[in-house]
Amino acid sequence: MVADSIDRLRAAVRDVPNFPRHGIVFKDITPILIDATLFRDSIDCFLDRCRSLTVDKVVGIDARGFLFGSAVAYASGVGFVPIRKKGKLPFKTASAAYSLEYGDAEMEMHIDSIEPGEKIVLIDDLLATGGTSAAAAALIRKAGGELLEAQFLIELEFLDGRPKLEPTPVVSFLKY
Ligand code: AMP
Repeated sequence: MVADSIDRLRAAVRDVPNFPRHGIVFKDITPILIDATLFRDSIDCFLDRCRSLTVDKVVGIDARGFLFGSAVAYASGVGFVPIRKKGKLPFKTASAAYSLEYGDAEMEMHIDSIEPGEKIVLIDDLLATGGTSAAAAALIRKAGGELLEAQFLIELEFLDGRPKLEPTPVVSFLKY
């Protein structure tokens, strides 16, 4: 990915202070989505990485991970698996709990989403504390998937989420 397009993507991410609650600076990626070139460039970041891997399925995290992950799956010619917040998936699910700043939450995945041995790339828009993606990684492994890499458009490095994903390699394109 050329440095120019990384700079353009970075410039497009909009900081929204105090959303969804006081003290959080929300990284809004919708300015990337509404611009055809930026949206394609963002997907190309992920695709560049996936080209060097042999991927069977892309897993995306509820909800913005669906936007990037499903486009990457389509362009890669592989299936897409949604991991959702508790209570959203209609069929039988496996679940993994994780900690939020206040209290706990659960992510769920349909039990027939991943076959044992399938090679998986995990995609979300943003890595913060790592709790969400670590729960997603646990679900992938519980299903017998081989998690090759976790990829994020944005990483908030000061929140130190990477260690939670160990030993999974982590890639991010815009670091803050
Ligand atoms: P975490 O579990 O702390 O790594 O949080 C990651 C999840 O929360 C991702 O699905 C993000 O979309 C969302 N998220 C956390 N912090 C932010 C933020 N500052 N801006 C936008 N999304 C965020």
